[in-house]
Amino acid sequence: AVKAVQVHKAFGDLHVLKGVDLTVAPGTVTVILGPSGSGKSTFLRLINQLETLTGGVIEVQGERIGVKRVEGKNGTSYLQTLTDKEIARQRSHLGMVFQRFNLFPHMTALENVMEAPVHVLKMDKREARALAVKELERVGLGERLDYYPAQLSGGQQQRVAIARALAMKPDIMLFDEPTSALDPELVGEVLGVMRSLADDGMTMIVVTHEIGFAKEVADQVVFMDGGVVVEQGGPEIIDHPKEARFQDFLQHVL
Ligand code: ATP
Ligand code: MG
Repeated sequence: AVKAVQVHKAFGDLHVLKGVDLTVAPGTVTVILGPSGSGKSTFLRLINQLETLTGGVIEVQGERIGVKRVEGKNGTSYLQTLTDKEIARQRSHLGMVFQRFNLFPHMTALENVMEAPVHVLKMDKREARALAVKELERVGLGERLDYYPAQLSGGQQQRVAIARALAMKPDIMLFDEPTSALDPELVGEVLGVMRSLADDGMTMIVVTHEIGFAKEVADQVVFMDGGVVVEQGGPEIIDHPKEARFQDFLQHVL
């Protein structure tokens, strides 16, 4: 699960997130909608500790990220920044998929998926290979194991990226506009893989403009604008938006 309380993020004078609260229950799908520049990517990057918080608290799997409370003298306590190793452990709960697939171009699909299990988890190669085959089959690419990224379509590359994240056995998957860079005819295959992941009970936070996916797959829909959550609720809020800014956004995106 993920819990964000009054999350703030500033880049210098630019106050990007201004008190975001969000709770994501285990096994549920949260879709984040919002206009460009509203802070959606920044929020995901904070959860995954690719950025550091300016204020507020984020918990991942019940544990506060980035800092820990240390007992001082006379019953006092203070917050201490986590070590790189502790941060890596916290980040291992999360898998992230970006708009651009970021595959290693000189490695096959199979090698891309095996890479982190071998080098990060120190899994032996035979075991990592079996795992990678399983994850690539899960995203429908069992026939493309030995293809290089350049030999795969954008949709196939994005599915390799999903398999690569899944191979690290995350508890939560973060998706940042995973289909925005794809040709329209390739969007469906990636959304299909995401839907089956959701059906398997994966906890997911998905930033997307795919309203149909949000309506059908989301348990929770969040509309962000100007660094705050403007409206949130079940997927039915897409058909019955209350806030003028959300209504306006939906009219432009549909
Ligand atoms: P989009 O839909 O275009 O992806 P977004 O909602 O994901 O938008 P963010 O990428 O989170 O928006 O950016 C929010 C604001 O923060 C933008 O004004 C952006 O320019 C700014 N920003 C993001 N990252 C940085 C950074 N590293 N340094 C300075 N400003 C940043
Ligand atoms: Mg973004």
